[in-house]
Amino acid sequence: MTKLTRRELLAAAITGTATLCCPSLSRAFWPSGRQAESDASAGPDDITGHIFKNSAPDEPWKWAREAFDYIGTSDLKTTCMICPHECELSPGDRGICRSKVNIDGTLYSLSYGDPCAVHLDPVEKKPLFHFKPRTTAFSIAAAGCNFRCLNCQNWEISQARPEELRHYEMFPPDVVKAAKQTGAASIAYTYSEAVTFFEYMYDTAGIAKAAGISNLLISNGFVNKAPLDALCDVIDGANINLKSFDDSIYRKLNGGRLKPVLQTLKTLHNRKVHLEITNLVVPGYTDDYNMFKRMCAWILEALGPDHPLHLLRFFPKYKLNRLPPTPVDTLTDFRKTAMQAGIRYVYVGNVPGHEGTNTYCHNCKKMLIRRHGYLITQYNIKNEKCKFCGASIPGVWS
Ligand code: SF4
Repeated sequence: MTKLTRRELLAAAITGTATLCCPSLSRAFWPSGRQAESDASAGPDDITGHIFKNSAPDEPWKWAREAFDYIGTSDLKTTCMICPHECELSPGDRGICRSKVNIDGTLYSLSYGDPCAVHLDPVEKKPLFHFKPRTTAFSIAAAGCNFRCLNCQNWEISQARPEELRHYEMFPPDVVKAAKQTGAASIAYTYSEAVTFFEYMYDTAGIAKAAGISNLLISNGFVNKAPLDALCDVIDGANINLKSFDDSIYRKLNGGRLKPVLQTLKTLHNRKVHLEITNLVVPGYTDDYNMFKRMCAWILEALGPDHPLHLLRFFPKYKLNRLPPTPVDTLTDFRKTAMQAGIRYVYVGNVPGHEGTNTYCHNCKKMLIRRHGYLITQYNIKNEKCKFCGASIPGVWS
């Protein structure tokens, strides 16, 4: 296991050298052999995930903490209450996410202070278009995920055990210190699945909040309400990936369920966390027009018109590399449909130059923000209002 010193880490974060990139951008970061490794649970027959029997280490390693929320029983079994899988583990077992283990009747997270990806990103990359634009987010990930998405973009880290990956050593105060030194306005918990390194995220976010740094949850939203409620005390913004609006598609594409994700969206909305929603349009899976219309209707009724919606273009990946990319016309049509339904800010992602990458005032329709990739070349919001007509623009602008 190779660790970088904090000085090396910061130097790389500031200069943007490859070793600090998300692994999807940096092959050099990976221990040899990992990319070719296949885990039975990552196979096509295990979309729902399973508990890994007898795969916990004998004792917790240095980067372990007792889990935030679990139930223990007298026969040393534990039930993890972080996400709706609620894995029941006997001593020696490991949860579906691969990052939680039962060691002698105590549930531990093995993802604490051991990020496998650290990078300084434009906040627009999360994507968050209405949250402190033109600032950077100090972005971290630890191994593990509670989903098994067939189209995962970061499967090398999401479908891995913490012990399998090369990682940095950064405990929560180190993360906050590094974020400050890079000038980041926020810390983003991202790339893999933040819910599966909940303890690390929660402690880091508390310290960051006290230091005046914002916290951003980038997640599939598959989390139980009680831990999410606790997290809402310390996070400022979230982008939740609403992967489809059909429970059967959630089960066959992602290994999750729809209802808990909708509950998460409602909780974040009710707790007034800045919320943006992402929907990846996957041909043959999530490009059904009627399903998309139902999704828009639910968003409007449950959350209102002001949460930005990002429609992302799919590119062949991972186990869906036989599929074509999403046709741009589909994304254009979906954007039009969502806006006609009443969602005010609808974006198209992964299509450079598309007009859906810009922000237009919902009232006067004039361009507020012009983007070229993550670069902002025009900015017409002043005092949180449209510079042209004075309408209030939803978001956190300063
Ligand atoms: S966080 Fe991991 S161990 Fe806990 S319930 Fe979810 S998948 Fe299971």
